[in-house]
Amino acid sequence: MKNITILGSTGSIGVSTLDVVSRHTDKYCVKALTAHSNVDLMYEQCVTHQPEQAVMVDADAAARLEKQLRDVAPDISVSSGEAELVSVSERNDVDYVMAAIVGAAGLLPTLAAARSGKRVLLANKEALVMSGKLFMDTVKENDAELLPIDSEHNAVFQCMPHPYAEGFQHRGVKQILLTASGGPFRQTPIEKLVDITPEQACNHPNWDMGRKISVDSATMMNKGLEVIEACWLFHTQPESIQVVIHPQSVIHSLVEYNDGSVLAQLGNPDMRTPIAYGLSWPERIDSGVQSLDLFDVARLDFERPDEQQFPCLRLAKSAMLAGGTSSAIMNAANEIAVDEFLNNGLPFTAIAQVIESTLEQLSSHVADSLDVILEDDLLARQTAKEMVRRLAA
Ligand code: NAD
Ligand code: MG
Repeated sequence: MKNITILGSTGSIGVSTLDVVSRHTDKYCVKALTAHSNVDLMYEQCVTHQPEQAVMVDADAAARLEKQLRDVAPDISVSSGEAELVSVSERNDVDYVMAAIVGAAGLLPTLAAARSGKRVLLANKEALVMSGKLFMDTVKENDAELLPIDSEHNAVFQCMPHPYAEGFQHRGVKQILLTASGGPFRQTPIEKLVDITPEQACNHPNWDMGRKISVDSATMMNKGLEVIEACWLFHTQPESIQVVIHPQSVIHSLVEYNDGSVLAQLGNPDMRTPIAYGLSWPERIDSGVQSLDLFDVARLDFERPDEQQFPCLRLAKSAMLAGGTSSAIMNAANEIAVDEFLNNGLPFTAIAQVIESTLEQLSSHVADSLDVILEDDLLARQTAKEMVRRLAA
């Protein structure tokens, strides 16, 4: 029996994780669930999955949850605050931590899971983008297991030779082909992008996801973050990763070998497949995902990404190449810009502008401690907000 903490259980990945876990109650036991403030869904999840602990980051939400659970599930301990996210990730009796908080808020608890030697199921790509080498070193030093949940990285993981820790060139791998749907605006004329609304941006053609990652997919910053994520996970550099637009989202990524072989992982676009693989690796379990019907799919298309249409892809690659805290600065600026787009009317095309200008204004530092990373993250948020104010003026 493996005991699990799910960070971000009320989100899209969290809900899919509980769906897979509930199909295998003989194998997995939910010890702790966490969320920001969605009391209604957390209440339902607590009643259904009976964790020992539920954490709501928001204190009012925690108080409401505790009150609601008092009669139906009094044994569930409810707490609040960011420090509690770290403590449920470190629990001695927990084997696996699903890291499915969105954005930088997930960094500390995800890192805590790695530090305490857990199997880390990594959906929260921003945590790795921000802390790169520090995160990978923490995994190694503490004998943690890092299983990528992002569908592309999970696909690459499935197609890679194991082990590949010394760098994949040692195992005859030539390059990674990272697929991307291209999002909802792949074919939108570039001059129309300025008018895009949050509702349009969140309406992804193939995947049903949280709002932040949906906007990232629409700007293709998601793919930029994923290039950085793949560099760290598979010990490589952006020049060995080719982004391939594949609008059907059936091939989740590919690995090309020196002998000309190209291995791919295919499946319906449903996150329960990578989640199930992360949970059960090296075995396979049922995920509830429908069989892929190739006759239904009928054709698979591929295109080169257009970096003029999607400048975020270029920005992410150059942040990775610049090294140090550049990726953390870029991630923070993106989080601010996406939030301003979703909530305060920042134009869609200004997202890339805010990121680029923040990267230009700040200098990168050696990212060898959490303090340095968090300091530059904070500075980048302030700089990006200032830029947003100037654009609005
Ligand atoms: P979501 O917005 O649906 O859910 C986010 C979860 O994090 C919620 O449970 C929310 O309560 C919690 N949360 C939000 N802000 C928080 C904060 N400040 N502190 C603590 N908890 C907080 O997001 P999602 O789509 O499930 O994505 C989660 C992560 O997984 C993201 O990093 C995303 O990039 C990654 N991911 C998602 C998908 C997908 O299909 N949804 C695919 C690949 C990777
Ligand atoms: Mg992905």
